[in-house]
Amino acid sequence: MCRELHVTRIAFIGLGNMGGGMAANQAKAQNHVRAFDLSAAAVERAVAAGCHAAASVAEAVADAEVVITMLPAGPHVRAVYGEQILANAPKTALLVDCSTIDVESARAVAKQAAEAGFRFADAPVSGGVMAAEAGTLAFMVGCDAPDFAAVEAALAPMSRATIHAGDHGAGQAAKICNNMLLGVSMLGTCEAFALAEKLGLAADRFFEIASKSSGQCWSITTYCPVPGVGPQTPADRHYEGGFATAMMLKDLKLAQDAAAKAGASTPMGAQAEALYALLDGNGFGGKDFSAAIQLLRGKLADLN
Ligand code: NAD
Repeated sequence: MCRELHVTRIAFIGLGNMGGGMAANQAKAQNHVRAFDLSAAAVERAVAAGCHAAASVAEAVADAEVVITMLPAGPHVRAVYGEQILANAPKTALLVDCSTIDVESARAVAKQAAEAGFRFADAPVSGGVMAAEAGTLAFMVGCDAPDFAAVEAALAPMSRATIHAGDHGAGQAAKICNNMLLGVSMLGTCEAFALAEKLGLAADRFFEIASKSSGQCWSITTYCPVPGVGPQTPADRHYEGGFATAMMLKDLKLAQDAAAKAGASTPMGAQAEALYALLDGNGFGGKDFSAAIQLLRGKLADLN
């Protein structure tokens, strides 16, 4: 059976480490992608990957059916939507912000978009640059329930899973809660391996035992911070690549800000933020977040 190909006109704003690969996957899916970034080099890379260059946000969104943004942080998202997208996109366009930002900004932009007559979703991602390039990101979506099917379809070329988290802001809430848990569990894992070492327990033996015991978690079995133990991870590459300490710190700060505003008590998240700030402050913000084990082993210098 021959299925008719639907070409979607997509505006893609923010073509950095993540957005570059994501926009390329939209083009690979035969969509017409108008791409814009403040960096001309980023636009050039997107064009080489099959996108069409736009000279401004306004030009990119002018006749878009879907607008996707992948920007650094809340202030960028507020500015790009408030000053450019809402004024220039057709009201029929579906607006999807995939950046990781604070819940308040996500809700504020959603409100502004709704008042201007648009459908909007916050849809932050789990998975790093490799997943962005492979089209295997997981999206957690905050939007009005009737809009979810359209959001899921728009994200499909970039996604291995798209989950409706709830109303506006719920996607960001899911993202920061998940990453706070990840930061805490990684530090717990690092602490346990560092203690095991001091007690003379071999790391591979502890890995095998903890993997099958009640301490088991993703940070142990999938992303073990000890080189040569378990599956290949950034630990085996001198903690290069993977999920940068500076990115984890950004997400932990978002979680702490959100907790303070919501009156939630998150002492473990606060400890994790302090430890990752220490690692970052020592000049290791670019190292994978599992490098925290070197801080706890008292061997930070080995990271150089
Ligand atoms: P990045 O800094 O590589 O890319 C951001 C891009 O946005 C840059 O190219 C920048 O020039 C562009 N930009 C900034 N302001 C702009 C504007 N006004 N108009 C147009 N373009 C503008 O960042 P990234 O690693 O791609 O991350 C993007 C988002 O994804 C962040 O919110 C980050 O927290 C989140 N995230 C990143 C990862 C990761 O592993 N890198 C994983 C999950 C989520």
